[in-house]
Amino acid sequence: MKQVQDYFGCNVFNDKEMKMRLSSDVYKKLKKTIIDGKELDISVANSVAQAMKEWAIEKGATHYTHWFQPMTGITAEKHDGFISPEDDSRVIMEFKGKELVKGEPDASSFPSGGLRATCEARGYTAWDPTSFAFIKGKTLCIPTAFCSYGGEALDKKTPLLRSMQALNKQAVRVAKLFSSEVETVRTTVGPEQEYFLVDKEIYNKRKDLIYTGRTVFGALPPKGQELDDHYFGAIKPRVQEFMDELNEELWKLGILAKTEHNEVAPAQHELAPIFSTTNIAADHNQITMEIMKKVADKHGLVCLLHEKPFKGVNGSGKHNNWSISTNTGVNLLEPGDTPAENAQFLLFLVSVIKAVDDYQDLLRISVASANNDFRLGANEAPPAIISIFLGSELQAVLDSIETDTPLEKHGKSFLRIGADVLPPLPKDTTDRNRTSPFAFTGNKFEFRALGSSDSISCANIMLNTAVAESLRQFADELEGASDFNAALNALIKKTIVEHKRIIFNGNGYDDSWIEEASKRGLLNLKSTPEALPYYLAAKNVKLFTSHDVYTESEINARYLIGQEHYSKVVNIEALTVVDMLDKDYLPAISSYSKKLVDAAIAKASVGIPADYELETAKILSSGLSEAIACEKELKAAIAEAQAEENPEKKSMLYRNSVLVLMEKVRNIIDTLEGSVEESAWPVPSYGDLLYGVR
Ligand code: ADP
Ligand code: MG
Repeated sequence: MKQVQDYFGCNVFNDKEMKMRLSSDVYKKLKKTIIDGKELDISVANSVAQAMKEWAIEKGATHYTHWFQPMTGITAEKHDGFISPEDDSRVIMEFKGKELVKGEPDASSFPSGGLRATCEARGYTAWDPTSFAFIKGKTLCIPTAFCSYGGEALDKKTPLLRSMQALNKQAVRVAKLFSSEVETVRTTVGPEQEYFLVDKEIYNKRKDLIYTGRTVFGALPPKGQELDDHYFGAIKPRVQEFMDELNEELWKLGILAKTEHNEVAPAQHELAPIFSTTNIAADHNQITMEIMKKVADKHGLVCLLHEKPFKGVNGSGKHNNWSISTNTGVNLLEPGDTPAENAQFLLFLVSVIKAVDDYQDLLRISVASANNDFRLGANEAPPAIISIFLGSELQAVLDSIETDTPLEKHGKSFLRIGADVLPPLPKDTTDRNRTSPFAFTGNKFEFRALGSSDSISCANIMLNTAVAESLRQFADELEGASDFNAALNALIKKTIVEHKRIIFNGNGYDDSWIEEASKRGLLNLKSTPEALPYYLAAKNVKLFTSHDVYTESEINARYLIGQEHYSKVVNIEALTVVDMLDKDYLPAISSYSKKLVDAAIAKASVGIPADYELETAKILSSGLSEAIACEKELKAAIAEAQAEENPEKKSMLYRNSVLVLMEKVRNIIDTLEGSVEESAWPVPSYGDLLYGVR
């Protein structure tokens, strides 16, 4: 049997392959480019391309592609063959340095938010050499950033790389105050991915799943997740086969898939990788989502990555575990053993607390989508209010610093930053507050509000940039301090006092939290259209432009794309509702009531009672009348929203009238589902979908 260590990373042109296949001079130059983040010299690029091509051809590749992440949130690729004609009508396989470092896809059909007029359709893709090339099928994929000719970012990778640079710059300034050896600082991420698996044959009978990724109708089956018997339950053999193949495919691509288990809802599962550098984690998460879908298909399954495929059943999220570490191997969010390490830890900790408080709106925006709106604040995912959970031990430490009061467990009377060692903080997994959107978990923060289908880029762009700003302010203040420890003490204390309102260790699902959060002045942005305008707030524009993460026009573009995307998604869902009503539900309910009435007439003719038939037919007929009245309103609301040209007003119309009416008509149909014989119902039920994988 093949052993994992033998094939792990076999489809990746990784460091080992580079070392083996490049001359030591070329290898050194490439490594230097990677570390310095400079453009690759063309002669080096030619040698790398040659080696990469040979490796890829040995692996059976015939094509190459610049693989990029446009603002659609999914990945894009256009394949080009290696073939190149020779005079004697033969072909050779060719791949040049310039094809490796730069591509020019026709980009007119990707969203640009007005950054690029269709007449200047071309954008260009540029290799991100920090992320290795890999093979998918018969194609060599080169991870790239995607920009307009004016240099504006048209993708999710470019600003992510810029945000990592911004954080690196400021974090190095701060870390150098503690250790002169620190040269670079990078953020690390481990994203836990939730998903559903449903049977493909059943899925194919649900137009709503096909068009929208979620069910827009469907009544709950008698059994849901109330017995908690699915979470960590035994994995069904068919699902296990899927997971085994998924792991194998991911391992071949060098993706560190580590943990797999059943999730809370029936048919729901999770996969978690071992963490890596943020841009690699983002690439890997995109590939993971894609491979999940492909492998599922091979097993007669469909992998649903939608945040809320089923009403009344837990939706799917993504936990973005995030930390910061130095080139000297120190995790800056790990409480240390020495007074200096602890002082550094506390400073970085409060920098995150300050960042999350100052830029709650941006973190909220980073997880805002039409899909995720069904989860946040719906008592299954963290609320739409952004807050931080620290746990009781760390809270006690901060309290003692803030109030200059003794820390009980500590033995000493006061905790003097820079002089004392912190009491050990337990990394106890039971002390987890599942209701918090942003929780400290021992040596990292876990941002839990992301949606399952989200690219993790946006959340990390916001987080990195916001923390970079806290650290910039800290470095400005501490660099010139005459008494470092005194200044540090004062700064940590001041930051706690100013930003403690963002810390909440209680139950985030509790209604009283909403009231409490509002008293504290925290934002509660319940929906995407309400959150997006905060992109344009002056403080946020200043943040992004001052750290060179987004230009003002890039921010405007992201804002516009967000609004447009929201409206388009709800519009498709609304049209699906109308389509299914007119073609499936209404005709089926009508035929079934006729069948009942026919039976009632037949029974009456022989003088036997027909109560069931008549009563049910009455319920169905009056339900039909209600449904068509509601559908009329819905159609009018859709027309009004479609006609609105202002993007903000448009998304609000979809949110406040179209979605509301979709829900109303759904409720009517879902109630009728209980009165119709199973075989007469036009689509598979929730029971079929949730328990259909056997
Ligand atoms: P959980 O109980 O939430 O499953 P785990 O300890 O298993 O917690 O970690 C979840 C994720 O956090 C994994 O992907 C793991 O690799 C990641 N993780 C651990 N340490 C770090 C770190 N320093 N930076 C980023 N992610 C990390
Ligand atoms: Mg977790």
